[in-house]
Amino acid sequence: MIDISRIRADFPILQRKVNGQPLVYFDNAATSQTPQVVIDSIVDYYSNYNANIHRGVHTLSQEATDAYEAARHKIQRHFNAEKAHEIIFTSGTTHAINIVASGFEKFLKKDDEILVSALEHHSNIVPWQMLCEKTGALLKVIPMNDEGELQMKKFDELLSEKTKLVFVNHISNALGTINPIEEILTKAHAVGAAVLVDGAQACPHIKPDVQELDVDFYVASAHKMCGPTGVGILYGKSEWLDKLPPYQGGGEMIKEVTFEKTTYADLPHKFEAGTPNIAGGIAFGVALDYLNDIGFDTIASYEKELLDFGTEKLLEIEGLRIYGTSPNKTSVISFNIKGIHPYDIGSIVDKLGIAVRTGHHCAQPIMDYYKIPGTVRASFAFYNTKEEILKLVDAIKRAKKMLS
Ligand SMILES: *Cc1c(COP(=O)(O)O)cnc(C)c1O
Repeated sequence: MIDISRIRADFPILQRKVNGQPLVYFDNAATSQTPQVVIDSIVDYYSNYNANIHRGVHTLSQEATDAYEAARHKIQRHFNAEKAHEIIFTSGTTHAINIVASGFEKFLKKDDEILVSALEHHSNIVPWQMLCEKTGALLKVIPMNDEGELQMKKFDELLSEKTKLVFVNHISNALGTINPIEEILTKAHAVGAAVLVDGAQACPHIKPDVQELDVDFYVASAHKMCGPTGVGILYGKSEWLDKLPPYQGGGEMIKEVTFEKTTYADLPHKFEAGTPNIAGGIAFGVALDYLNDIGFDTIASYEKELLDFGTEKLLEIEGLRIYGTSPNKTSVISFNIKGIHPYDIGSIVDKLGIAVRTGHHCAQPIMDYYKIPGTVRASFAFYNTKEEILKLVDAIKRAKKMLS
């Protein structure tokens, strides 16, 4: 059982008012809120041991290096990576995807194929389009169905010896659908293709085991998992990371530099040019501890309760349609009300202190599929409550009256 009032007390922002009303924060799929322990770890770093890492012999630099590397080990354990150097710190999911996309240029030739799912976030489409332009490889799309699920029959048809890479999100940020990544991994590996799974939306809800999944690359952002913005990870099997060329040149990523030739540092430093977000990396580790203390099973079962309750209550509103109705989904509800623009609903509920997202959620192809400009998206976290959901339902009813 989750102790919701104790948990809510951990999040200072949940105590504030917005437009005179207690904040109801339902935009967790865009970024999660930050518990006090994570905020404290950032303050502690800047107050007590702020120094650049991996360079100085002095005490502060050693302390900062130790804390940063300890965070890497925590992340390794969390994702069950075999080796700590398979965890590369990045500025977030987008950066992590770009490292792989730019590095894959080396492995692709004309007419090779890359498969992406129709449920992708823009950050997972654009880098592959750029890569295809450079290499002459072809981008093919695994289509979706009305429930917001991938058409796995079509995936089987698209997959061939030509497929070199498959990119799919673990959970769709726009609809909440959990994709069958185990099946995708097995089938892609059978034709010799590598798989990158975008876990940005999955990691707040489930704890992936990268070894059990046997995934080639897995990426995530701290800010969706109660950590700070500007930090994330690229997990890659070391066989892949060893082969992949570095993404950026700079300090920290080199072994030896002369004007004739530079040799690259070993993993993970090869991909970590320049001074990283040190406080952010340390705070990411603290956020993982916080989530693991609550427990991902507890989080998942409570969020399922919120999802079922929210779905039932929202569907009682006349004219409301939910997009993304797969039985395999997390606590994201994307919806529209007949005849009302999502933006108008978003602005009215904001006046009542409720934060939802409106628009295409960086997933325009999904909106095109449903032939809609966007949706209203309410995404729940483990610190939300059923009372808050009822407030949203009331606010939507008020908005509907005002707008029709
Ligand atoms: C949020 C999100 C991203 C982008 O993450 P950034 O932290 O903005 O780089 C990519 N994919 C999915 C599925 C997301 O939800």
